[in-house]
Order: sequence, then structure tokens, then C-alpha cells
Amino acid sequence: MKNSGNLLESFDEISRESDPLDCAFCDIKINWKERIIEESPRTFSFYDRNSGRCKVHILICPKKHIKNYNFLNSSDLEMLLEMRQEAHRMGSKYGDGSPYRMGFHIPPFYSIKHLHLHLCIEPIYTCWSKAVTFGLNLKPLDQVIEKLEKLYPKLTIFVLS
Ligand SMILES: [Zn+2]
Ligand SMILES: [Zn+2]
Repeated sequence: MKNSGNLLESFDEISRESDPLDCAFCDIKINWKERIIEESPRTFSFYDRNSGRCKVHILICPKKHIKNYNFLNSSDLEMLLEMRQEAHRMGSKYGDGSPYRMGFHIPPFYSIKHLHLHLCIEPIYTCWSKAVTFGLNLKPLDQVIEKLEKLYPKLTIFVLS
């Protein structure tokens, strides 16, 4: 992918099945490290290009390329729990006590095919983020974790203990 400085504007270029060599977020992880504001063993985070939609708008991604939450399996549960921990940590750190919301795009309604958690710190200014996104298009992280925990109950007990 060409680096124009506005990577996330090139939504249309990523219409085919993505692979790690043609993924805007893998590209940030590898070639645009200066955009990364926070990192944990399994995740990296950066500001969404559409930062004007809410007070603070951060995307939290797994370092491993995962297309969307339907491609998660038992080996990703620890990563998801880490993602949740990171989201709460950053929600407090960057939000100064403001409430925040988080969620995943619901397939197939997403543009970048690399799993990312939207962390939106209130106030949320646009109806896109407030009504449309959180009403219809974003799935709460806890629901995804719950689904995996149901699929892999023994593993969950192991991870959490
Ligand atoms: Zn990727
Ligand atoms: Zn997104």
C-alpha cells in the first residue's frame, strides 16, 4: 500500500479479502510506528483518523492480523481480555473521567479488515458515531468475549484463574 500520510482514507482500496501485506492497520504496526500511542504485549493503539467525532477516538488492534471477530478462536481469548483491559485503561487515561463506549464493527459493515476496537470518549458529536454506529453497527466487546467464553468454557476458567 502507498503511504500518503492519510492511510485510513483509502478505504476503497481494501475492498478485496485482506491479507497482512495489504492491510492498512498492519501497515501502521510495521511502517507507521510514530502513530502508535499505546502498546501492550498483544495490542497496539492509535487515534482514529475521524477524531472529530468524539472527544477522543482511539482504535485498539490486535498485533496479530485477525479479519473480524468471527475469525476469533480459543487462542485469542487472552488477547481479547487484554484488549478490554487496555480500553478501560485508555478510557480513564485519555478521558479525564468522561464516560466512554467501545465496540467492534459488525461484519460485513466495516472497511478495514483488521479487527479493531473503537474506543469513543464522550462527548460524541456526530450522529454517525452516536446513533448509527452504536445503535446498529458496533458490537460491544463484552458480547464478543461472552460468546467466546460460551464456546470455550474450560479455557476461560483457565485464563481467568
Ligand atoms: Zn492487518
Ligand atoms: Zn472502524
